[in-house]
Amino acid sequence: MVSPPGIGMSADAQDALPDALGFQEQPISQLLVKVASRCNIDCSYCYWFRDASVYDKPKLMSSEVLLQLLQRIEEHVARHSLIDFPIILHGGEPLLWGIDNFHRIAAACEGITSRTGCDIPIAVTTNGVLIDDEWLNCFEARNIQVAISLDGPEHIHDLHRKTFQGTGTHAAAERAARMLASRDIAMSALAVCNPAYPPKEYVEFFASCGIANYDIMIPDATVDETPASVGSFYKGLFDLWLEANRSKPTVNIRIIADMITAMLGNNSPTEGVGYKPIELCTVMTDGSVEAHDVLRIAGDGFTTTKFNIFEHAIDDVRNEPRWKAARDASIQLSGKCQQCKFMNACGGGYLPHRFSRKNGYDNPSVYCDDLYSMFENMQSVLESHLYVSKPDGERLGVRDALAGRVAG
Ligand code: SF4
Repeated sequence: MVSPPGIGMSADAQDALPDALGFQEQPISQLLVKVASRCNIDCSYCYWFRDASVYDKPKLMSSEVLLQLLQRIEEHVARHSLIDFPIILHGGEPLLWGIDNFHRIAAACEGITSRTGCDIPIAVTTNGVLIDDEWLNCFEARNIQVAISLDGPEHIHDLHRKTFQGTGTHAAAERAARMLASRDIAMSALAVCNPAYPPKEYVEFFASCGIANYDIMIPDATVDETPASVGSFYKGLFDLWLEANRSKPTVNIRIIADMITAMLGNNSPTEGVGYKPIELCTVMTDGSVEAHDVLRIAGDGFTTTKFNIFEHAIDDVRNEPRWKAARDASIQLSGKCQQCKFMNACGGGYLPHRFSRKNGYDNPSVYCDDLYSMFENMQSVLESHLYVSKPDGERLGVRDALAGRVAG
């Protein structure tokens, strides 16, 4: 049975808006750890190098910083009695940090788990170029989840994801993806949408590689830019997702699953979809702590704080003005978003996509029109697919059930 979902924004939710700004403060619940600040390829759309301050950071996280980080993690999970605390290893290209360091951090986290009872799952996001059998053995033995950046087929991927010599990286990424898919490793692919190509090309490519979990992300852009519309791409992707999962679940496309989750009134697991605070903490290679990593899309030094793990506990970042500003902005939506019927599901769009030099984050997403049409399309399709089972077995369409509730 499917209960009548809270599709869109209910009148109750609208009324609750001012209170929503007081989301209960929780301990930081996951860490993004930059173990390498440089990359071994040269993608044209990478937000990381839009902020030249990354070149001031050490290329790799040192043993000294790693030890301090592990101490802070143990202190944090013990102090807050956390039952899990995911860590995402990121870069630049995190595999440049070396396989020994991956074993070292995973073994140390296993030690923290045995002492505190807190599960510390480790994930890594990589371009895959360095992956070989030794890396696969490490991921498998250490139960490390791997997300590989792969923009679908070669002619799309190689438009942006190039070596420093200007040649494409698709062959290396596809090889790595197929190797990962062939092993007992939790793996997914992360693509960036190129709306000039039909979503079918992505979906067919990932199916041919045996990849059932992936995301096709909206390209990063601020309100000061004029990115191409992505609405019809995602409408097509939603149709393909629906078709692939019609009789049984076969494909999980994260952005689609998250948007549906948010439309049904639940918390979407990822930060880009839904109305909720963004509370991510990023630790850099030198141990400094920054606000949300992707906000460096806004420019030089935009995420920099004066905090670091040698002088501050992980949760201290909550008192840092830049971190706080980004966190507060994630739940203080523009006037237009507050009036929008999809406010709860959309959350005003991904925070970096709301930024402008003039208004800061006080804007609807630069993709607002696209997001609205995506949610509207999903709402009408979901309404025609979902039903409510009555105790006598009769099935009511969601629209009729909701109409009955209103009438009743
Ligand atoms: S960004 Fe647009 S679609 Fe999203 S909540 Fe704001 S007004 Fe609604």
